[in-house]
Amino acid sequence: MTTSTPVASSEAPERFLDYDKSLACIHCGLCLSSCPTYLETGNENDSPRGRIYLMRAVQDGRLPLDETTVKHIDLCLGCRACEAVCPSGVQYGHLLEHTRDHLERTYKRSTFQTVLRRFVIEKIFPHRERMELAIAPARMAKALKLDKILPKFAKEALSLIPTCDKGEPLAPFSGATGTRKGRVGFIRGCVMDVMFSKTNQNTVKLLNAAGYDVVVPEQQGCCGALFAHSGNLAKARESARANIEAFAGQNLDAIIINAAGCGSTLKEYGELLHGDTAWEQRGKDFSAKVKDITEFLCNNPSPLNLQLSNSQRVTYHDACHLAHPQHITKQPRDLIKAVAGKNFVELPESDVCCGSAGTYNLTEPEMAERLQNRKIQNIIKTGAEVVVTTNPGCLLQIRAGLEKAGSEIKAMHIADYLASA
Ligand code: SF4
Ligand code: SF4
Repeated sequence: MTTSTPVASSEAPERFLDYDKSLACIHCGLCLSSCPTYLETGNENDSPRGRIYLMRAVQDGRLPLDETTVKHIDLCLGCRACEAVCPSGVQYGHLLEHTRDHLERTYKRSTFQTVLRRFVIEKIFPHRERMELAIAPARMAKALKLDKILPKFAKEALSLIPTCDKGEPLAPFSGATGTRKGRVGFIRGCVMDVMFSKTNQNTVKLLNAAGYDVVVPEQQGCCGALFAHSGNLAKARESARANIEAFAGQNLDAIIINAAGCGSTLKEYGELLHGDTAWEQRGKDFSAKVKDITEFLCNNPSPLNLQLSNSQRVTYHDACHLAHPQHITKQPRDLIKAVAGKNFVELPESDVCCGSAGTYNLTEPEMAERLQNRKIQNIIKTGAEVVVTTNPGCLLQIRAGLEKAGSEIKAMHIADYLASA
């Protein structure tokens, strides 16, 4: 690895960037055609290569952290499609998280963006009870069709809220059905727990049917992804430590997650806690056990009795954080094909972000909508009746887009799709 020293001016800010990691970029441009924001704007500053250049210029003190620079960084979805195609192994996600952490501590945002990021995203989303309370009036407004009279931003936000998906709370323990093969933990997630509780129930049922006892520790909390992506690494580390502690001593074969965005953060606890002597190894051990539901079901020869059904044409949208950082693309397709057989059809640009990107559709609604439209047009082109995915944000974004387009195509989480088989 290169060990060059940055050319810093006297006004260079605190060291926030791993300079060697940024120098791994050889400016080849191979990532450009995979970057959703570059595909939309054609602006080099909205590409991975351009953003790395901007980060380095800010670190060197050659560029101020002003509105224009911040906009190019904000516009990044954090989808990490660039990482997956980079021949030089640039750890773009790491560079972005540390740049955003610096940005949030030093740049003064508008009041609206500050309230959205520091209060709504950080104080409400990671807490089940607060999120329930916050979305109750939104669900009511939707049921009463009040969205018609709201301004565009509020209307867009409301379109993301599902009318109702309430299931029973998860039991702390559910025993395997049939031959017992082991014991796994389950991460219920923040958004999944409140907006997709039936999907969580179905995930546990699939694991039980595959022969696993499922433990759901009550003390678990947000995985930290919401904080890491919004530029608050200290809170992300706090969340990681709390979860490591919550699952400690449970004697688990694996820790299962059914939300792609959470999965990629959970698998990177070792890196998140790098340098923390008391926690780094515990983070690595925890992450080594984390498995997405699709990789776990596929990699364990299981007695899941999936029925081949010829009734519905189905397609699959790759959630960014499953396809890019976790490289899981084949397993969900194999599971869907076990049910759909020849009725599975590939989605054009299946791994281009749908615009959800965690909370991006709230902080950058304009670009989120452009990418949502692009995704919906591609889904409609397939002629599918069902689109399956693996992440709550993608599901909300795609369902809202299909509804806006007046389409009857059904968007389903893979756990619900498999459970229905
Ligand atoms: S593919 Fe990698 S090395 Fe090439 S420009 Fe993109 S980030 Fe840099
Ligand atoms: S993370 Fe996604 S949006 Fe950001 S630079 Fe990489 S490919 Fe582009």
